[in-house]
Amino acid sequence: MKLVQDQLTVQNFINGDFEQHQEASIDVISPLDGGSISRVPISTKKQLDKAVKSASTAFVKWSQLTLKERVQVFFRYRNLLEENIEELSNLIRLENGKTFGEAKAEVEKGIELCEFAVSLPQIVCNEIQEVSKGVACKIEKKPLGVVASITPFNFPNMVPHWTIPNALVLGNTMIMKPSEQVPLSVMKIAQLLKEAGLPQGVFNVINGSKEVVESICDHPDIKAVTFVGSTTVAKIVYQKATSNLKRCLALGGAKNHLIVLPDANTEMTASNVVASMSGCAGQRCMAASVMVGVDKIDHIIDKMVEEAKAIIPGENLGTVISAEAKERIERYITEAEQAGANVILDGRNVVVKGGETGFYVGPTILDHVTTDMSVAKEEIFGPVISIIRAKDLDQAIKIENGSNYGNAAAVFTQNGGLAKQVIERASAGMVGVNIGVPVPREPFSFGGWNESKFGVGDITGKSSIEFWTQSKKTTTKWNKEDKTNWMS
Ligand code: NAD
Repeated sequence: MKLVQDQLTVQNFINGDFEQHQEASIDVISPLDGGSISRVPISTKKQLDKAVKSASTAFVKWSQLTLKERVQVFFRYRNLLEENIEELSNLIRLENGKTFGEAKAEVEKGIELCEFAVSLPQIVCNEIQEVSKGVACKIEKKPLGVVASITPFNFPNMVPHWTIPNALVLGNTMIMKPSEQVPLSVMKIAQLLKEAGLPQGVFNVINGSKEVVESICDHPDIKAVTFVGSTTVAKIVYQKATSNLKRCLALGGAKNHLIVLPDANTEMTASNVVASMSGCAGQRCMAASVMVGVDKIDHIIDKMVEEAKAIIPGENLGTVISAEAKERIERYITEAEQAGANVILDGRNVVVKGGETGFYVGPTILDHVTTDMSVAKEEIFGPVISIIRAKDLDQAIKIENGSNYGNAAAVFTQNGGLAKQVIERASAGMVGVNIGVPVPREPFSFGGWNESKFGVGDITGKSSIEFWTQSKKTTTKWNKEDKTNWMS
C-alpha cells in the first residue's frame, strides 16, 4: 500500500480540526532510508493554550455523559482501527522502521486496549451503603478534567492507546503530545476518533518537543500528566508536573534481565531470548537486554547464535530509529569488546541490499560481559544482548537486583521452586517465567518499578482507573426524625 501526501501531513488537531501551521517545523525522517517524509510543527505556548481551552470547554458536556454513552464512540473507533489496520501499520513502519508484522501487532494491541476501555461500564460501579437508618454513604468515580499524555517513538500507535481510551471513556478530555520522531500515527488516530463521532475538543494533538512538554507541565488548567519515555526525561517531567501540583505518572527506560538456568528447555529458551532482544530491533521497554546464565548454559548460547543468525536486517528485522541511535548502539558494542567481552555475533556495519541508507543494526550477542561494563548497566535500546555468567541463582538474582531499572525480569527453567524464587526476589514490576517479553495482557496493568516508573499505580488496565478519576463521597439523610444523630 502506497501512502499519499495527505496521510503524511502533520498538523495540530485542536477542537476537532487539523490546523495549518506557520510556525517553525522540523523534518520527520524515515529510518528505512534516512529521507525526510514530512515536517512536524514545533508548537508554541499560544497553541497549547488554544488546545487546553478547547479541551476545557469540551469537558463540560463530555464529563456529564454516562459511561455507557461515552463508550459508544469507542465501540465505533475500535472497529475503525480494524478497518484501517493496513494503513495504520504502514504509517508505523514508515516512521518507526519496524517490520510490517510488528507494526500490525502494535495496532492489534491498540485494539485490545480499546476493548478494555469499552468494558469499563461493567467494572466501574459506584458503591453505596445505608450506614445507619435512613443515612447512606456513596462513593463515585469522577473525571479529573483536562489531562495530557506525552509519548515516545518506539510504539507510535500502541503507547498513545495506553492512555487515550481509558482517560476519555472515564470522562476526561485530552492533550496528546506525540514523539516528534513519529508524529504520523497520531494524526491518523485523531482522524479516526473524529470519524467515530468523538465530540470536538475531547481529544487534541499538540506537536513539538521539549518546550511544549515543559509548557504542558506548567499549564494551570491541565490536571494530570502521563509520560512514557526515557528515565532522564521521566524524572524531569515527574518533578515539573508534581511541583506544579499535578497528578503524574511517568514511565521511564529499562534494563531487563533474563535469568537462564541450566535445566531450561534449550530450543524454547533460545528462541524466546532471541525474539525478546531483537523484536522491534531491541527498541521495546520490555526487551531482554542482559541474560544472566547460571552454571553450564553453553548449549543454550550455541542455539541462540543459530537462531539469531536467521534474523536478517531488512527482511525479518527492522531499523533502529535514527542515525544517532545506530551510532550509539554500535559504540556500546565496541566499548564492550574493548573492555573484554566476547562478541560472538556482531551486528555492526550491516549492509542491507536496497536499504543501504537505512538505520540497520544486526542482532548482537556479547558473552562474558561483567557487571562493571556499560553494556551491563545502561539502556542500549538496540538488538543487543549481554550475557553475564553467574555461579548460582543467588548470584544471578543479585545481579538483576543491582540494576537501577525495574521494568521486566524473567527466568527460564523447568523447576517451579527456583522460578518462584525469581518471582519473589526480582526487583521488577513485570516478571516472566519461560516468557521473554512478559507484558501483562488486559485487564492486568502495565508498569515497572524503580527508575522505570515514577508515580503511583500503573498506566493501563484496572490500575489506570484510579489514575484517571477522583472519588466523590456523598452522605445523605432522608429520615424524618430531625433529632436523630446520623451517626447512631
Ligand atoms: P524520550 O524520553 O527521548 O522522549 C519521550 C517524549 O519526551 C517525547 O515526546 C519527546 O518529545 C519528549 N522529550 C524529549 N526530551 C525532552 C526533554 N528534555 N524535556 C521534556 N520533554 C522531552 O524517549 P524516546 O527516545 O522517544 O523513547 C525511548 C525511551 O522510552 C526508552 O528509554 C524506552 O525504554 C522508554 N519507554 C518506556 C516504556 C515503559 O513502559 N517504561 C515504554 C516505551 C518506551
